[in-house]
Amino acid sequence: MKDTYTYQIGDNLYLNLTNRCSNRCTFCVRDERSTYEGYPLWLKGGEPSAETVTAEIGDPTRYREIVFCGFGEPTYRLDALKQIADYVHARGGRTRLNTNGHGSLINGRNIAPELRGRIDGVNISLNAPTAEAYAALCRPQREGAFAAMLEFARALKAEGVCCWFSVVDCIGEAAISQCRAVAAEVGIPLRVREMIE
Ligand code: SF4
Repeated sequence: MKDTYTYQIGDNLYLNLTNRCSNRCTFCVRDERSTYEGYPLWLKGGEPSAETVTAEIGDPTRYREIVFCGFGEPTYRLDALKQIADYVHARGGRTRLNTNGHGSLINGRNIAPELRGRIDGVNISLNAPTAEAYAALCRPQREGAFAAMLEFARALKAEGVCCWFSVVDCIGEAAISQCRAVAAEVGIPLRVREMIE
């Protein structure tokens, strides 16, 4: 079966650029066998080129948003992401990035300026209010991941890129309340979303 590079849910088209991720979240659905909304998202044949993905997108205005999401962390594919985002914008489409916020850590530089003008909204999975709780829930594979995520959010805000934190509702009211305080300190909104079973 052909790998799934793009998949539609509702009015949005989602892009699946990589299996790689710098977290091992306890609630993650990412593995070789599972599917998401009926789509098998594990890339068995390798990561797609930007050209392959843009050919699948076609006219981006057919969708409300083109969303960089998928099983893995899209910022591992920063060059392809930028190329695809430019394609979408050149044809009048809108872009969103769903990310764990490790993009600058992964790429070894502040990538926020490279996202300005390319990504219309960045959804950063905060997931937990402290580095300790984050380590237990998201099991980051890199040192300083929680602090790097907060710094990424601050850098996006400084660049004027629309961004917000998200948490899954399973973490409980007390943790959600603490996350609201973290978001307020950074100066961006917090959105609470349902856990994917
Ligand atoms: S950040 Fe997302 S893709 Fe990565 S392990 Fe967590 S839930 Fe899975």
